[in-house]
Amino acid sequence: MMQNLPFEPEFEQAYKELASTLENSTLFQKKPEFRKALQVVSVPERVIQFRVVWEDDKGQVQINRGYRVQFNSALGPYKGGLRFHPTVNLSILKFLGFEQIFKNALTGLNMGGGKGGSDFDPKGKTDNEIRRFCVSFMTELCKHIGADTDVPAGDIGVTGREVGFMFGQYKKIRNQWEGVLTGKGGSWGGSLIRPEATGYGVVYYVEHMIQHASGGKESFAGKRVAISGSGNVAQYAALKVIELGGSVISLSDSQGALVLNGEEGSFTAEEINTIAEIKVQRKQIAELATQAAFSSKFKYIPGARPWTNIAGRIDVALPSATQNEVSGDEAKALIAAGCKFIAEGSNMGSTQEAIDVFEAHRDANPGAAAIWYAPGKAANAGGVAVSGLEMAQNSARVNWSREEVDSRLKKIMEDCFNNGLATAKEYVTPAEGVLPSLVAGSNIAGFTKVAEAMKEHGDWW
Ligand code: GLU
Repeated sequence: MMQNLPFEPEFEQAYKELASTLENSTLFQKKPEFRKALQVVSVPERVIQFRVVWEDDKGQVQINRGYRVQFNSALGPYKGGLRFHPTVNLSILKFLGFEQIFKNALTGLNMGGGKGGSDFDPKGKTDNEIRRFCVSFMTELCKHIGADTDVPAGDIGVTGREVGFMFGQYKKIRNQWEGVLTGKGGSWGGSLIRPEATGYGVVYYVEHMIQHASGGKESFAGKRVAISGSGNVAQYAALKVIELGGSVISLSDSQGALVLNGEEGSFTAEEINTIAEIKVQRKQIAELATQAAFSSKFKYIPGARPWTNIAGRIDVALPSATQNEVSGDEAKALIAAGCKFIAEGSNMGSTQEAIDVFEAHRDANPGAAAIWYAPGKAANAGGVAVSGLEMAQNSARVNWSREEVDSRLKKIMEDCFNNGLATAKEYVTPAEGVLPSLVAGSNIAGFTKVAEAMKEHGDWW
């Protein structure tokens, strides 16, 4: 039981989601001492909170809150992204940091878990304002991170541009060129495939779900894929789906959803690239939706998410925008539209109600649609996995080819799927004809790896 907690709804949601799958498995029967590990792992090793003062283009003083949650370092340096978004607070960053611990464990690489960011809103800011904010943010953060201590990266609102500004400031103050951030530019230490990694990784993971479910008979070819979001994860997931012969039938941003008119067709790679270009300028999809090329082919629905606004069949859903972007009712609507595979590109994309709906449909009896649901901490692990590969390249002072990084990413996603599946079979005994739970299997696999390392370190006994 967690005690004396301040009001942290997102963190409590992430904790309960993990704890309930452990409780409903045979893990604590087989290893009752692991209950203690759960208590210990749910408290961050350290939380850093700081003031960020910066100057806007009018010369006015602006103040934001900066954070870094150094959650767990059992498996390696703290590792996880920085999020710049007005909704950022300690509850959001604790939920993200908590998820990150187990996600990073599932990659098989030596990375602990952390997360950070600020309530700074990049939207509506000029490039100069963003640069000044990043410099000020890193002026404090640089005291607490380092290549062997804590290695941040991007998340919502933090792209290669922001990583560049922060890296430059770290280097100036610490007088060290080191792999202290990942997602760096290709010419100064970044890994090839890192920008693509989260989106590609989700699609590689889902390929294994589809192949396993169909006994190797089906693939992405011919599948209708609903995607939410239009940032880095959604863009590269969409491009990979198109490359593999699937159709991308929706995208969205915080202001609305863009879905195909009618039941045929797909976004093209060119259309995805056009959306990527406006996102670099921090603009909304709404600005594109009125242009003739888009308005003739797509329907824009302001203020909506895609899930209930798509005409025709949905085979695969990839929530890739932000947390809690699929409600229980939307989960039911996805299943009613024929969706059999749901995998989160976002962190905690599904509400607990949505997870309960998906998990209640693992029944594979004839006549019932059997649903495969993969949580973000397994399905979107490709991003941080290639961050781990970037750290390895920086330490060895080498640069691997695209092919090398891509093949390692594919193998990590395959292992992540197989590990979740095998662990579910070992610790959860479903009724006859019910599919193994990837959410339970992934949670148990990630948790046991971290718990065992912590025990060997004397963190609990
Ligand atoms: N923000 C990403 C995630 O949620 C990437 C973190 C990283 O590369 O450190 O996993």
